[in-house]
Amino acid sequence: MRAAVPVVDGWFTVGDEPHLIGAQCPACSTIVFPPREGACPNPSCDSDELAATPLSRRGRVWSYTENHYPPPPPYVTADPFEPYALAAVELADEGIVVLGQVAKGVHAADLRVGMEMQIAIEVLSHDDDDHDSLVYVWEPVP
Ligand SMILES: [Zn+2]
Repeated sequence: MRAAVPVVDGWFTVGDEPHLIGAQCPACSTIVFPPREGACPNPSCDSDELAATPLSRRGRVWSYTENHYPPPPPYVTADPFEPYALAAVELADEGIVVLGQVAKGVHAADLRVGMEMQIAIEVLSHDDDDHDSLVYVWEPVP
């Protein structure tokens, strides 16, 4: 059986209702993504602890662009390279902006600021050992 694993560990869940995983300060509720450990980024908070927290699955496009050059690893692109869209989406509940690739087949011309998007999971790459690498993408809410 082909194994499917997230391309980075601990940034998102997979399954029927995938969601991003952020880190939240228990003292002041500040949320960051990508998740990390250590001190709270809020300069007026002296907590040195952050805890993993699930983030809302939906948000609205804050900005977007289309890349016409290959991204750095761990991203893998089609060969020959095909342009792909990136969206910065403001999460509905948290208000933070999360950058991500846009679902295959959706291009910058299909996007507009304020459009509702949701997290989905796509296969980023296959390797010779029968592993699929999974990545989160933003897709328009139908
Ligand atoms: Zn804090």
